[in-house]
Amino acid sequence: MRHRIAVVGAGPGGLTLARVLHRHGHPVTVLERDTAPDARPLGGTLDLHENLGQRAIAQAGLTTAFERLARPEGQAMRILGTDGTVLRDWRPRPGERANPEIDRGQLRDLLLGPLDVQWGTNVTEVVPDAPGGVLVRSADGSARTYDLVVGADGAWSRVRGALSPATPRYTGVTLLETSLDDVDTTHPDLARLIGDGALAVYGVNRAVVAQRNSGGHVKVYAQFRAPLDWHTDPAHHLGLTGRPSLDPADREAVRPLLEALFDGWAAPVLDLLRRGTTFAHRPLHVLPVGHTWDHVPGVTLLGDAAHLMPPLGVGANLAMIEGAELAETLTQARAGEVDAAVRAFEERMQARAATFAEMTAAGLDRLVGPDPATAIALFDDLQPA
Ligand SMILES: Cc1cc2nc3c(=O)[nH]c(=O)nc-3n(C[C@H](O)[C@H](O)[C@H](O)COP(=O)(O)OP(=O)(O)OC[C@H]3O[C@@H](n4cnc5c(N)ncnc54)[C@H](O)[C@@H]3O)c2cc1C
Repeated sequence: MRHRIAVVGAGPGGLTLARVLHRHGHPVTVLERDTAPDARPLGGTLDLHENLGQRAIAQAGLTTAFERLARPEGQAMRILGTDGTVLRDWRPRPGERANPEIDRGQLRDLLLGPLDVQWGTNVTEVVPDAPGGVLVRSADGSARTYDLVVGADGAWSRVRGALSPATPRYTGVTLLETSLDDVDTTHPDLARLIGDGALAVYGVNRAVVAQRNSGGHVKVYAQFRAPLDWHTDPAHHLGLTGRPSLDPADREAVRPLLEALFDGWAAPVLDLLRRGTTFAHRPLHVLPVGHTWDHVPGVTLLGDAAHLMPPLGVGANLAMIEGAELAETLTQARAGEVDAAVRAFEERMQARAATFAEMTAAGLDRLVGPDPATAIALFDDLQPA
């Protein structure tokens, strides 16, 4: 198989695809909008599941390097009541490696290795059936053709438009993300409360989750149900009398808003929100459960571009296993069989993703919902017997 392949997006899915192709000696072009690997903060930590993300890592030949970076202790999870009572305190058993954590930046660097990525390439349009192949246009005015273009360009994919009219819809749940740096030194009391992994507190239609990354860095997510434009009128949308409109990235405006929103919660939990340095607004969007499209030769999707779902620990895992599987499929296909191989890959991916999309949609309803007991029961169900 000697196809000209372009992968749009250097996220976990696109890079796994490219890295496995590269391992099999197949040339591949990666087009990425970011101007450099470290051009922006990539966000928090990811847990890679044994039978998904870790399997993809193995197919890329990177297991040993991954194990040097992964944090099995990050599998620990503590749940508090809103009054601060410890309700659950799970720690991984010695040798437990079902879902170790890795920082997104470390994962990107690990997958990048020898890959040649065209940084700063913002793909604007993909035209199947153009003279010479599938045409990829970029914001800098360049246009190139390939035999296969894989859209691994995330939630707001530009490749998706060549295949499907679907666009993400807002779930009704918003995250305000903040960070604590060097937590063991700057806030040792909070470091002890969080433990080695994650801490979660579930209230009525609200939650706070704090998660340890490497190097003493902690991401804290305030989660709540609200209309998409809640920040234009918090008094009306969140029932917080006297609160004017605000910029959700403005730390000085967001801190008192969060104190009001989580009023009455235990002081250390409020401290997690108060001590945050910068704030990012992350309204959660999803594609329709069971999103499919009519197969178009020469173009496909994987990861969030194909099946954006609530962030309940599977999105990156699916993107990676799909990248690995597509690469294996392509390298095994004989001349004339590539299109059938891509079609078979799509059918398998769509069926598996539909199951996870349904599960995570139901999970989000329980985690940020009217009955905190159902949120906690979700974790009880996940514990090994
Ligand atoms: C708060 C939060 C926590 C999460 N935790 C987990 C977890 O623990 N485990 C898990 O499995 N998943 C988790 N997820 C989900 C996970 O982040 C995504 O599902 C995953 O990143 C999807 O990977 P991807 O490669 O499909 O897309 P992305 O990671 O979105 O990567 C897409 C890439 O494409 C690039 N791009 C976008 N548009 C263009 C363009 N027009 N031209 C060129 N390049 C472009 C982007 O810059 C980016 O590099 C979480 C998500 C959130 C929001």
